[in-house]
Amino acid sequence: MSALILDGKAVAKHREQQLHTAVEKLRADGGVKPVLATILVGSDPASATYVQMKANACERVGMGSVRVDMPQATTTDELLAVIDQLNRDSDICGILLQHPVPAQIDERRCFDAIAIAKDVDGVTTRGFGLMAMGEAAFGSATPAGIMTLLRHYDIPLAGKHAVVVGRSPILGKPMAAMLLNANATVTICHSRTVDLAQQVARADIVVGAVGQPELIKAEWISAGAVVVDAGYHPGGVGDIEKTGLAERVAALTPVPGGVGPMTINALISQTLDAALQR
Ligand code: NAP
Repeated sequence: MSALILDGKAVAKHREQQLHTAVEKLRADGGVKPVLATILVGSDPASATYVQMKANACERVGMGSVRVDMPQATTTDELLAVIDQLNRDSDICGILLQHPVPAQIDERRCFDAIAIAKDVDGVTTRGFGLMAMGEAAFGSATPAGIMTLLRHYDIPLAGKHAVVVGRSPILGKPMAAMLLNANATVTICHSRTVDLAQQVARADIVVGAVGQPELIKAEWISAGAVVVDAGYHPGGVGDIEKTGLAERVAALTPVPGGVGPMTINALISQTLDAALQR
């Protein structure tokens, strides 16, 4: 048996065509042009690439994007002032603050300053709370993209045991909440988890969100599991070791071309939703 490839690149491309049509329809109906504002603080090359990829995706589907670049030495107050300005700007439908920001900045305060109606990357505490309670809210983009990918391939979630490795505010925690909302039984693992191998071995669905290359070993994962790898490291390596996995598991996300394109897709999709909600 060879695993089903959860092809995020292909799914995102297909969804971009639908988004393009929806943006055209919105404009033809006299609606606003969806515009995403991206804020990049500092000059980290990977972050700069991610921001550019998000702007490119906006362009492909006919949305606008406005880029704000701020220096490495930016203070929390300076960043808050920019967010406040974008919150008030009626041309802007969504705001993306690229994570991570330099260490001197209070990232949580800045995320939470984003107006809930423009929180298309799903990073605010309020948005997380609403989502976790099953109320309407924009989901954190990476887990929201993963959920779209799992649903696209009709991966059964209800009653399944999902093990999420990582508990960050933008990935692990919202991922766990979304899987719980989809009626999975969820275990969250982190750096203090005792015997990670044993936890992972119990999973029907494994989500790797640790930020360390191949920390999760292929041999830990049960035959027939669904494997979702959010990690991306130099050399095309993810957070999950893939050696021999494709022959044993039911489905897996490739790295690259799995979770990454779906994250961007969730972001632009939610930017359109924000424009529609105007
Ligand atoms: P993060 O903020 O660094 O969080 C990492 C999490 O992994 C933490 O909860 C940490 O536990 C846990 N962890 C670290 N070492 C561990 C260990 N030995 N055993 C078990 N858990 C451990 O990272 P993140 O922002 O969530 O990102 C995670 C990964 O996803 C990264 O590879 C990142 O590049 C990727 N990512 C991809 C996208 C995309 O669009 N494709 C978007 C965002 C992130 P503690 O809480 O105990 O410290």
